[in-house]
Amino acid sequence: MPEDAPGAAVPEDPFGWTADEARRRAAAGLVRTLRPRPADTDLLDLAGNDYLGLTRHPEVTAAAAGAAHRWGAGATGSRLVTGTTALHAELERELAGFCGFEAALVFSSGYAANLAALTALGARGSLLVSDADNHASLVDGCRLSRAETAVVPHADPEAVRKTLAAHPGRRALVVSDSVFSVDGDAAPLGALAAACREHGAALVVDDAHGLGVLGDGGRGALHAAGLSGAPDVVATVTLSKSLGSQGGAVLGPARVVEHLVNAARTFIFDTGLAPAAAGAALAALRLLRREPDRAGRARAVAAALHARLTAAGLSAARPDAAVVSVRAPSPEAAVRWAADCRAEGLAVGCFRPPSVPDGVSRLRLTARADLTEEQTDRAVAVVLRTAPPC
Ligand code: PMP
Repeated sequence: MPEDAPGAAVPEDPFGWTADEARRRAAAGLVRTLRPRPADTDLLDLAGNDYLGLTRHPEVTAAAAGAAHRWGAGATGSRLVTGTTALHAELERELAGFCGFEAALVFSSGYAANLAALTALGARGSLLVSDADNHASLVDGCRLSRAETAVVPHADPEAVRKTLAAHPGRRALVVSDSVFSVDGDAAPLGALAAACREHGAALVVDDAHGLGVLGDGGRGALHAAGLSGAPDVVATVTLSKSLGSQGGAVLGPARVVEHLVNAARTFIFDTGLAPAAAGAALAALRLLRREPDRAGRARAVAAALHARLTAAGLSAARPDAAVVSVRAPSPEAAVRWAADCRAEGLAVGCFRPPSVPDGVSRLRLTARADLTEEQTDRAVAVVLRTAPPC
């Protein structure tokens, strides 16, 4: 009898199925656990995304505290009601100016910014052309938009061109990360923009890993590609990586930002970014403008890590920004490797399914502008000493 047929047994426990899922996860070596991070530790951190070493910078933490004192611990309401402070407005103006866009709109996270861009700019009947390795927030934005989504092979502008050509006259967006979060490789932005222009499509780029690291003084991947401020280009960013804070933003033409204010559900129905986070991001942005070398230093540390690891025979993807990704033979080996690193005082990221496709588990090391040579040496030595046999 089908389970939902009249007379089928009523399940005794509506969450009983979670035990089966937990058993499946355990058998596949894919159990995830939460571990509180100690505030003060000797652990060398190459797992976080604090690329410029700003999250504990005294100017940034003082700005967060000052904003909380002045405006309160929370935003108190959505941006359109009470959740916009002078800090939000300043941050939007300065972020847009720094990255070379006409306007910016700040959200409570980069995730919410991506959902906003894709749901407000895509729509039923339009076409989204999305890179196969895009971040989960872009994937979810495509799904939520109700647009037709064509997933194209990774970093393949020709596939993008062919897909657009197959839908002539269709309102279309091409969607890509600028730097892909697992392997740290960069998207071919110039070629993607050219494909868009041939077919009248817009380009939406998630520059979460590019802001603060790529481009002149950290102005981002689109600035580096000469695409910032273009009338057919939109960028999304997070404030939680190189700016050491929390939150996200969409940057683009003023008319696009105006549309998002009126149509993006994650803008309209979400409580505004906490003033402390807006203040911290603004302070970090001003610091970066004053100390542009931080961007180049993060890239140089990533290049040094990559050179040392590959010279020692590990399979590490060439980093285009601050993410250095090292292949592990299996999910279990990746988990053990990361745990062994931690036991030796080094925190590294561990990526395994479902965050990455089957068969490509990785350790992920994030370079930081403030890592000393001694710390870089120590990190490389620990990763090598604990490496599983391949
Ligand atoms: N896009 C990319 C490429 C990311 O790596 C992340 C963060 N993991 C996000 C978006 C989401 O940003 P946030 O953490 O601010 O929600």
